Amino acid sequence: MGRLAYVNGRFVPHRKGQVHIEDRGYQFADGVYEVVPVADGHPVDENLHLDRLEYSLSALRIAMPMRREVLKLVSHEVIRRNKLTNGLLYMQVTRGVAHRDHKFPKHAKPALVMTAKQTKPPGAAELNAGLGVVTRPDIRWKRPDIKSISLLPNCLAKQEAVEAGAGEAWLVDEAGRVTEGSSTNAWIVTKDKRVITREAERRILNGITRRVLLNIMQAEGYSFEERPFTLEEAESASEAFLTSSSNFVMPVTKIDRRMVGNGEPGPLTQALRKAYIASFAPDGSIQ
Ligand code: PMP
Repeated sequence: MGRLAYVNGRFVPHRKGQVHIEDRGYQFADGVYEVVPVADGHPVDENLHLDRLEYSLSALRIAMPMRREVLKLVSHEVIRRNKLTNGLLYMQVTRGVAHRDHKFPKHAKPALVMTAKQTKPPGAAELNAGLGVVTRPDIRWKRPDIKSISLLPNCLAKQEAVEAGAGEAWLVDEAGRVTEGSSTNAWIVTKDKRVITREAERRILNGITRRVLLNIMQAEGYSFEERPFTLEEAESASEAFLTSSSNFVMPVTKIDRRMVGNGEPGPLTQALRKAYIASFAPDGSIQ
C-alpha cells in the first residue's frame, strides 16, 4: 500500500487527501503545525512536541483537536500504516472550516491532518561539506515562538538561499543579531569554545532539537550561553551549526561568502551531532 494521510478522522491515500476551501488554514493560515522526527518507527521526544503543539494552539485560542493520548494513538497509527521507520511525522491543526470572515467563528471544529514521510539521513559527503547559509533580514511577525503555518517570510528566505546556492537562510534582526534560520535554529562556537544560541524569547521558535541539545550540553558539561549573537560574531566564529527535527545537528561551513573557521565542520559540532543522535538512536544506526 502507498502513503496514507490522516485527514479529519479518516485515513486516505496521500494523493487524495483534501481539505475544504473554507478551512481557515487555507484562507488565513489560521493554524499551527508540528514536525516530529521518527526513528526506528518511534516518534522522538514526542511529549516535547505535543507540549509545543498545545502551547501554539493555546496562544491562538484553538482547542486541541483531541486529547493528547488519542492524538498519540492516531499518530502512531499514521507511522504504522505508512511503515515509517526513519523520517518525519507532520501534524497540522487549523481553527477549522467557516464562512470567510476574519473574526473567529463561533462553532468551528479544529481540523487535523497528519502525514508521514520517510527520509534519508545525510551521507558522509554531505556532512563533511556542511551547509552554506546566506543572511537575510528577519521580516517575520513578532511571534515566531508560535509554530504557525503562516510561513511566507520563511519560504521567501529559503528560496533566496537556494537561489544563492546555499542550504539555509539565517535571519537577522534590526540590531544586526541573528535570530534563527528559516526552518532551523542557529548556533555558533566562539574561539574559546563556548557554544552560543539565541535565548528562546518570542523572536525565535524554541526548537525541540535545540532544547534537547541544551540539556545534553548541560549534562555533559559543555560551556554554552543562550544569548543573541551578531553577524560579525558569526563571521569570526570557529564553528557554526544549525539544528532542527529534520537536520538534527548540521555543520554550517559558510556564512554569505565567508568560510566559517577553516571551512570544515568543527570538532564540537561533530561531537554534538553524535551526542544528539545517541539520545534517541544509541545503536549507531544513524550517522
Ligand atoms: N526555527 C524555525 C523557524 C523552524 O521552522 C524550525 C523547525 N520547524 C526550527 C527552528 C527547529 O525546530 P525543531 O528543532 O523543533 O525542529
